[in-house]
Amino acid sequence: MCRHTAYLGPPCSLADLLLNRPHALLRQSWAPCDMRGGGTVNADGFGAGWFPGTDADPVRYRRAIPLWTDGNFAALAGTITSGAVLAAIRSATVGMPINETACAPFTWDRWLFSHNGRITGWPDSVAKLAAEPPITDILTLEAPTDSALLFAVLRHRIRSGTPPADALAGLVTEVAAAAPGSRLNLLLTDGETVLATTWTHGLSVLAGDDSVVVASEPWDDDPAWTEVPDRHLVLATRSGVRLRHLDT
Ligand code: GLN
Repeated sequence: MCRHTAYLGPPCSLADLLLNRPHALLRQSWAPCDMRGGGTVNADGFGAGWFPGTDADPVRYRRAIPLWTDGNFAALAGTITSGAVLAAIRSATVGMPINETACAPFTWDRWLFSHNGRITGWPDSVAKLAAEPPITDILTLEAPTDSALLFAVLRHRIRSGTPPADALAGLVTEVAAAAPGSRLNLLLTDGETVLATTWTHGLSVLAGDDSVVVASEPWDDDPAWTEVPDRHLVLATRSGVRLRHLDT
């Protein structure tokens, strides 16, 4: 299954955050440690989204090739600095297309989104959920994948006024009820807060004095990493991390 990482803190280069650490996403793309039976490598593409400045909307770079094969990204990543980043590497769920638009992060307005997992019984199990956003949102989905649908529903609920944390938590528990056995580790940021869920896949947090990292797998062996228990919502900012149990 895919791996993802979000960072908030002092400006840092994308290379430092995503490539250079011993077990950063680059290494997780070919040697992940905690796939829990969901695939072996994450070679179906990758994406990085970052906030270039306080008032600017996020910028995104995505490719449908393994992260380790993109020399252009490796060169660019050393020159791009940001204090808010969300990136993902992809192991496509069987039956889902392998192309750039299916790679996270998905983006809308100030938001960057990623999904690590799969919806059981796709697409029938969530057909009712797909009827919720305006039909034009569904007709213009970036990709016919479970992750793109989750983002469309989430976006619709946030746009309709649901607080983002409640929208994320509600979506996970509803999909889990409609499609039992689904894996729903979601990651969402607006550059100020990182919201994440654990639902069957792993997630770890590294909180510093003025920074926070939320990642599928720790990027090094720093003992300060803590694992988030399953079925939890994470609310992380540069100044602290809170957890909330996801009720069913
Ligand atoms: N199901 C999603 C996709 O195919 C996410 C895949 C994953 O987490 N491995 O893109």
